Amino acid sequence: MLRREAFIDGRFVPAADGRTFPTVSPREGAVLAQVARGGAADVDRAVRAARQSFEGGAWSLADPAQRGRVLIRLAELMTERLSELALVEARDSGHPIRDARSVDVPNAARCFAWYGEAIDKVYGEIAPTAADALALVGREPLGVVGAVVPWNYPLIISAWKLAPALAAGNSVVLKPAEQSPLSALALAELAVQAGVPAGVLNVVPGYGEEAGQALGRHPGVDKLAFTGSVPVGRLFQRYAGESNGKEVSLELGGKSPHVVLADAPDLRAAAEAIGWGIFYNAGQTCHAGSRVVVERSVHDELVAALAEVARSFVPADPLEPDTVLGALISDEHLQGVLAKVSRAREDGASVLAGGGRVSPVPGGAYMEPTLIETDDPGLPVVQDEVFGPVLVIQAADDVEHALSLANHTRYGLAAAIWTSDITTAGRLARRLRAGTVWVNTFDAASMATPFGGSRDSGHGRDRSLHALDAYTQLKTTWISLA
Ligand code: NAD
Repeated sequence: MLRREAFIDGRFVPAADGRTFPTVSPREGAVLAQVARGGAADVDRAVRAARQSFEGGAWSLADPAQRGRVLIRLAELMTERLSELALVEARDSGHPIRDARSVDVPNAARCFAWYGEAIDKVYGEIAPTAADALALVGREPLGVVGAVVPWNYPLIISAWKLAPALAAGNSVVLKPAEQSPLSALALAELAVQAGVPAGVLNVVPGYGEEAGQALGRHPGVDKLAFTGSVPVGRLFQRYAGESNGKEVSLELGGKSPHVVLADAPDLRAAAEAIGWGIFYNAGQTCHAGSRVVVERSVHDELVAALAEVARSFVPADPLEPDTVLGALISDEHLQGVLAKVSRAREDGASVLAGGGRVSPVPGGAYMEPTLIETDDPGLPVVQDEVFGPVLVIQAADDVEHALSLANHTRYGLAAAIWTSDITTAGRLARRLRAGTVWVNTFDAASMATPFGGSRDSGHGRDRSLHALDAYTQLKTTWISLA
């Protein structure tokens, strides 16, 4: 299951120029594999193979039920190979093995099954016209889709792009993150076994500035689906503008707030959920609840409960079965997170817990769960995504103040409200700038609910039937009945 080569036109192949790059496990800093370093020539090969397969029609024109069966089979194969896939994911990304086994692989498999089950139940429309015409409005695939994904949930985010794109009949070129390319290559191997035809799914590992940019600029790509940082998201819009004006959808992260009001039903339960929402995957989650805005009257009680929850997340070896807080993705990323904590201290914020590096496995990239408090909403630690196990706490005078603090960032991905008053919850939910608002819970989700944001969090939605809109276009067929 440890594949190192690019997957193009149904075969594993080395990079055209033979180059490789190391993928390093953040668990202990060891090189796991030398992986094909895809460049412009490899992306071009993959896009041509994708185009050829799309035009050939074996997938794009197939009965949707047939495509659905293949995707369901892929989900079954992922489930059969769960242990191996989970190990690949945990070693490459630093995720705790228990999460890789219970969340990453099952959720990614569920995503393929969900779109496989759904795609032959999606109907078109007949537009209202005079009786002398029949106007059919249907959806058709876009053609060649490029997908560029990050390292924080390599399998899940790849599945969120691949499953709807493939279900709709597109051919895809996937560029996984250079920090975590191995699970995407394993997935390609299973896709062949499931019956995805050659050229329909291609995986080109490599660096962003090389393979990523080449895909973004390729004139043969009809649509580019991206998840990652804001600056790189903007680059993809530029690449599109400077090449063929391809459609771009962007999922770019956030600084999602919990608004905890004085009438929260259970502060202890809120603290528990807030802890999971920021310390799960070491805070490397785009919708991580990285800020808490709490009404002053319950501030001390909540902070005490949060400190206790933080203590229960002990950084440990991701390969141990009980570990809940594994490694950050790389030493470089950890240094960046630590620098943001130091900057917060210099800016006058208080570090209430954690803030330091730890070393449960020598050579690995681990950090303590960290709580920071400030009353300055303009600080970088309040405004910028830290992407580590770092929670920022802000006290609010009343509900209106809490709402204004919660909305005071450039992002618009997710938010949570903790209150016993359904009217307050409903009013705040309308006014919070977020693609998802949770009330008295956090991170509840299913394949049936869309996920995405606005403003600096990007645009477009993953998951649910709405994601099919991102990989299809409307076709009107007007038939004269005169
Ligand atoms: P990134 O945006 O640099 O990388 C994401 C993907 O884009 C990777 O596949 C990468 O190879 C590719 N890429 C990078 N530079 C590129 C370029 N110039 N042209 C084309 N493709 C390019 O993100 P990162 O370095 O992995 O993480 C940096 C920050 O991004 C994080 O600290 C976090 O704030 C944010 N992030 C957000 C998410 C999310 O889920 N929204 C995921 C990962 C990272």
